[in-house]
Order: sequence, then C-alpha cells, then structure tokens
Amino acid sequence: MAEQQATIGVTGLAVMGRNLARNIARHGHVTAVHNRTFTKTEALVDEFGDEGTFVASESLEDFVKSIETPRAIIIMVKAGEPTDAVIDELVPLLDEGDIVVDGGNAHFADTVRREQALSEKGLHFVGMGVSGGEEGALHGPSIMVGGSEHAYERLGPIVESIAAQVDGTPCAAHVGPDAAGHFVKMVHNGIEYADMQLIAEAYDLLRSIAGLSPAEIADVFEEWNGGDLESFLIEMTADVLRHTDGEGGQPFVDVVLDEAEQKGTGRWTVQAALDLGVPVTGIAEATFARSLSGHTEQRAAAREVFTTDPDEQRVSVDRDVFVDQVRAALYASKVVAYAQGFDQIAAGAEEHGWDVDLGSVATIWRGGCIIRAQFLDRIKDAYAEEPDLTTLLTTAYFADAVKGGVDAWREVVATAARGGVPVPAFGSSLSYFDGLRRERLPAALIQALRDDFGAHTYRRVDREGTFHTLWAGDR
Ligand code: NAP
Repeated sequence: MAEQQATIGVTGLAVMGRNLARNIARHGHVTAVHNRTFTKTEALVDEFGDEGTFVASESLEDFVKSIETPRAIIIMVKAGEPTDAVIDELVPLLDEGDIVVDGGNAHFADTVRREQALSEKGLHFVGMGVSGGEEGALHGPSIMVGGSEHAYERLGPIVESIAAQVDGTPCAAHVGPDAAGHFVKMVHNGIEYADMQLIAEAYDLLRSIAGLSPAEIADVFEEWNGGDLESFLIEMTADVLRHTDGEGGQPFVDVVLDEAEQKGTGRWTVQAALDLGVPVTGIAEATFARSLSGHTEQRAAAREVFTTDPDEQRVSVDRDVFVDQVRAALYASKVVAYAQGFDQIAAGAEEHGWDVDLGSVATIWRGGCIIRAQFLDRIKDAYAEEPDLTTLLTTAYFADAVKGGVDAWREVVATAARGGVPVPAFGSSLSYFDGLRRERLPAALIQALRDDFGAHTYRRVDREGTFHTLWAGDR
C-alpha cells in the first residue's frame, strides 16, 4: 500500500500507459500506477523508478486510495470492452467529483455513452485523444481533451506540462465538452490516412512514371521537406525510402508486402462523415485504397485478365518538370484533405452541440502527433483571422496555393490516368475542388431523375417553392 498521495493515476501500463506515466512522473507529478497484471507495474517501477515519483499498487482499491481527491485517473487499456470492464471496476471505488479519463482510442459514441453514465453517478468522464504513438506518449504527445471545463481545470496543468510544445505553446487543449476530444482524435487519424495515401501516390508516380529509384525519391522528399510540405510524414518517407533491406541490400520498400492494414479509425471517420453528410473524399479514398490492397485474390484475378503491356503504359515526361508537378499536386490535394477534415470537425461539433475551436485544434496538431506539419500554422492563422470560415480552401494563402498548382494538378492526374497508375486521393481531391467551384453541377439532373421516378420534387432556379412534374405523360 502506498505511503504518498499521488496527483494523478494511470491504469493500464502497456506501451502507451507506461510511457505516459513516465512522462507525467518526469514532469514532477507524483504518479500512481496500476496494471491488471502486476508484473508490468513492478517492471515500470524497477526500470524507471528513478525518473520521478511513482506510487505502485497491486490492487485497484489501493491504487484508487493512493490518489488525492478529487481523483484524476487515466485509463490506458485496450479500447472497447476492456475499457468498459475497467470503468465498471473503478466506479464503485470512486467518490463524487472524481475524474475518469479514457486515454485510449475509443469510438466517440462510446465516450458519449460513458460520459452520460458516469455523470449520472456524480463523476466526471473525460475522453482524451492522445496522438504520437509510444514515442509521443513518452516525449510529448498531442492531447485532445474532451469532457467538462471543471475536469479540465484539474487535468489541464498536468496534460499541458507533458504535451509537446511548439513555440512555447503546449500541444494540448480542452477541445470541447463530452466526446469532442475523441471525435477530434478520430478525424486526426482520418487525416493521417489521407496524408499517407497522398504521399504513397506521389511516390508511385515518381517511381512508375518518372522512373526514379526509391533512393532518388528519398532525395526528392527530403527537398520537399524544406518547403511548404515540411512535415513529420514527409521526413519519415525520405527515411523509409532510403532504407535498404539488411539481407539483400534492396530498397526496403520493395521487400514489404503491398497490403496496408488498418485498425479502424479511418473507417470510423468515414462512417461518421457519411452520417454527417460531409464529403471527406480524401479520407474515404485512402481508407478504400487500403481495403483494395488487401483484396489479393481479386487483384490476382484482375492482373491475369487485364495484363499490362509496359510499352502501352509508358508515358513520357520531363523528370524535373514532373517532380515539381507532383509536388504541387500533392500540396493541393493535402489542402483539400485537411479542409475536409476540419469541415467534419465543424459539422460534428454542430451536430453534438460541442463548441470546438478549430484554430485551437490546428494549434495542438503542430507538434507531438503524426500529422504534425508546418502547414498547420497556416491553418491556425486562417482560423485566427476568421473563426467561422466556410472552407479553408478559400482563405488567401490556401487559395493561392491551389490556384498556383491547379494546372500541375490536372497534368499529374491526367498523366496518371494515361499511365495506368492509380491516384484515388489525388484524383478525388481534384474532383472535389472542381465540384466546389463549378457554376452548375449535374446534381440538377439527379434531382430531375429523383422527381421522375420517385416524385421527390425539385426546386427551380427562377422561382421560389417546391415543384413536381407529372412525368408519366412524357413517355
Ligand atoms: P493495448 O495493447 O491496447 O492494451 C493493453 C493493456 O490493456 C494492458 O495494460 C492490459 O493489461 C490492459 N487490459 C486489456 N484488457 C483488460 C481488462 N479486461 N481489464 C484490465 N486491463 C485490461 O495497449 P497500448 O498499445 O498501450 O494502447 C493503450 C490504449 O491507447 C488503447 O486504447 C490504444 O488504442 C490507445 N493508443 C495506442 C497508440 C499506440 O500507438 N499503441 C496510440 C494512441 C492511442 P494486462 O497487462 O493485464 O494484459
């Protein structure tokens, strides 16, 4: 049983929980630690006990007693049923006003449910999105906190102290009430899917059309990382592409099976976007592209029937010009993917009655998380200038970037189509952009068809009101 009262507790000491607990203790907070399997708790204290003050308990009862009230307890266990199991065990041990924080990757609907259930018992429940993987958890993640303002008063100083810092600003904030933190974290992961898909398409184009080797593409990405595209993912891409396989010395990317897996947050983002009616085409295409990569039987069957003749597919491009066009297309597509993600956060906030400050979201994504990028400073500035922005795409900086790159963007997508290189995210982002700026959309024809087969009515360009045409007589 612990002798010292802890400021905060962490239960669940696998990679994320252990590193988060170490990070908290390293910042001078006395940290209570607990794990279902006690050996993990012991291992943490044995290996890292000198990094700060840990209060280790074997039983959940002792763990709870070791934390000063009102208690703040972070749960870092497997998302889903295990999280519910831990909450169920914890709740009878808590006192009114205590704060239960779920730092796992919960679906936001679960967070809504849990928040409601715990608030009925006089407890605060906080869904807290933590991004940055295990390294981030240890050295400074990006932390998206939901729940009540009251809970944030207790938690804020701790999470802000352990988060990544950019220009002296912590990458942690109270993004909104209830499940806002987990919703924002979900969309963050969705944007991460889109970002990675766009990078992968750029790599494929440079390799398959311009004929660059992985090492040459690594140089290109390194150069891009010195400009507007500067980001953790672009930097990491250069490293991965330069990496060779130990045994054969061939490019590492060539020994990796071309099937991308997914844990589900991209799918959640798309499902939520469909419910909200927000077109997150970049995230959706990225999620489907991963699915397609896993359909190995269909891919094999298609390869057999639609054999590719390398000569037929060859497209001639000027290497240097094409590299620059791909950079412009990547940037414009990235602007679209982020604009769509921020649209989804705005729509989710409106739907659920959460007051989410989009500029603050951009601010806390500038460091600690996987999508950290220089570009987020521009998004932060755009929302600072105009908090109720209709779309990020039309703000001066991004509008100029897209206008300046649009010819290259079209050229790249057309070249990809001619060369048979799939670019679902580049292509859909360009179509989204064209869809937004088009004077008249063929949606008019769709609405006319809906009125014809289903009497769904239509509105007119020249008169107010709702109309229906008696179509049967026309045929
Ligand atoms: P994990 O593999 O998702 O979960 C393992 C932990 O859950 C262990 O501490 C385990 O305890 C505990 N656990 C499982 N079932 C339990 C139950 N029924 N009752 C009590 N404890 C139970 O661990 P992780 O990778 O560190 O991730 C923790 C959370 O952070 C997850 O929700 C994950 O989605 C989220 N997350 C992970 C990452 C990442 O990069 N890994 C990044 C962001 C967020 P035992 O030791 O006793 O088995």
